[in-house]
Amino acid sequence: MANGNVKAGSFEGAVKTPEGLSFKGVILQPVIDKCEGCERMVAFEDEKFCPSYPQPARKWALGVCNFATHVRAQVDTQGKVKINPLKASKRAARGR
Ligand code: SF4
Repeated sequence: MANGNVKAGSFEGAVKTPEGLSFKGVILQPVIDKCEGCERMVAFEDEKFCPSYPQPARKWALGVCNFATHVRAQVDTQGKVKINPLKASKRAARGR
């Protein structure tokens, strides 16, 4: 079941189903390409899942994921969401 990338206990007891990864009564969908670099991703078998949000694609469809550790959303004066990857990476390096 587990491979080298799985953190201890992270998705322990999870079961792959045709709908997605079933974990504690929640169906998780695999992460999407925009999640690449996020520290929250956890590998399970040959796919990666997000323990913070079960449907990453839907999270990103609404804008920048507010749980992401690799990018940070900022709202500019026109109300548009901007991404500042540098700030996010500095914040991650400080461990916050
Ligand atoms: S926290 Fe957001 S960016 Fe990170 S893996 Fe989950 S859905 Fe993707």
